[in-house]
Order: sequence, then C-alpha cells, then structure tokens
Amino acid sequence: MAKQTDTSWNEEKLEQIAKTLRQADQILVGIGGGFNAAAGVAELPLNKKLKENEYWPFWLPYIRKQRLNKEVPELYKQLAQILSGKDYFIIDSNPDGFLYYSGLEMARIYKAQGDMARVQCSKNCQNHSWIGKQYFDKVEADASFLPVCPHCGAPLVMNVYTGGKFCDEPYQEKNSAYFRFINGSARNKLAILELGVGYTMPELIRFPFEQIVMNHKQAKLIRVNTMHPLCVEENRHKAICTEASIAEVLPALLKKAMN
Ligand SMILES: [Zn+2]
Repeated sequence: MAKQTDTSWNEEKLEQIAKTLRQADQILVGIGGGFNAAAGVAELPLNKKLKENEYWPFWLPYIRKQRLNKEVPELYKQLAQILSGKDYFIIDSNPDGFLYYSGLEMARIYKAQGDMARVQCSKNCQNHSWIGKQYFDKVEADASFLPVCPHCGAPLVMNVYTGGKFCDEPYQEKNSAYFRFINGSARNKLAILELGVGYTMPELIRFPFEQIVMNHKQAKLIRVNTMHPLCVEENRHKAICTEASIAEVLPALLKKAMN
C-alpha cells in the first residue's frame, strides 16, 4: 500500500515550498475560488435567478467592489511580491480585478472565466463583448435603462462564465499565451503553484495541472487547499501538498528569502 500524501503544514513543508519556488526557472500559478475566500472576497452568487430589470441593480455593487475597486486585498499583494522578478504566468478562474491592480503584469494574467468589467450578449449571438463602463454609468443614472445587444437586441449580461453562452473572444490571446508558456517550459524547472482550486470546475485548472506535472520531467506541484489538498497518486513524488490556509502560507513564504 502506498503512503497517503502528507498534507500537513510545518516548517519543513514551508522550506520545501520556498526552495521549489526559489529554484524554479518558471512558475505557473492557478487561482481558484478558494483564493478569493482566503482573501476575504465574497463569493459571487452566479446561479441567482434575476428578472431583466433586476439584473444590473443586483450585479453593479459586486462589479464596483470586486472589479473596479483598486483597494487590493493583502493576499493579492503578497502573491505579487512572491512572484516579483520571476518568469510567471497566472490562470485565474475568478472574474474580479484584484490581480490587475496588485502590481502583477497584465500580459501574464489569463482570466479564463471572464471579466466583470466587460459585457456580452446574453445569447452570445456574435461572440462579441464590450467594455461595460458606459452601460454601468447609464444604469446607475437611470435604473429603468436596460442595456441590450447592438446586434440582436437581447439583454446584455456580464462577460463571466455561467455556462454555454460565454463569450470567450476577449481571452483567446491570453489562452494562447498560457499554452506558449507551458510549451516553452519543457526544458526548464517548472514550479506549479495551485492556490484554492477545488472541484467546482476542475477541468479548467486542477486536472490540466496534474497532467502537466505527470508529463513534465522537471515540474513540481505545490497545492494549497484546505478542502482538497491531495494530489493523484502518480504525482505524489513530484508534489508538495498542504491543507493550510493560503492566508497562512503566503505570508510565511514572504518571510523566507525568495530569490
Ligand atoms: Zn446579440
């Protein structure tokens, strides 16, 4: 019987993670809902059923607070400091704006499930999206204003993934950059830092990360997850897993010399 993955949190584990990040040529970061929870960012009730005239009055406060707000939670700043000076790339499943305002490079951030600052047709008739600000301001000035698609007249919604009608056009370029980063890492030491990625949509980050680790000679997986810290058995010797909170791990890492 194989031993189960050790998911405890202690000084030795901290040192292993710090060393892996320090020695890496490249760092691939995956951010899930657990990261935002640890950062104190409210979970978005994306399944909430709303009437047309309730949609924007309900979502605008979230957009203002989580996407247009430049007061970045500490945890985001800590991540930015850890990645400072490194060759990194981030895939993020959260549609907020905090990564953008935390001092990280836009070109290295792939918001795979959309961006609350953009709007799209609710039918996604042409796979087009638009900057939302013009519509947000109008809704706030006149609550009866209903933004509609200029192509087909259907109501506009946030450009955030909730199912099959998602407009992915604004993210294609970053999607390619993400694959270029992974392919370009083949001969390098690749540290994969997975933060709070559970089973809401594991096919986006969690499963592909396990696959990369399995196929990449010099990859190491660092998984920080309070609920689901285990990795697949085949990757156990290439993984450092902990059930500690991200809010505990990142500040502890920062105290270690990272460069
Ligand atoms: Zn349309």
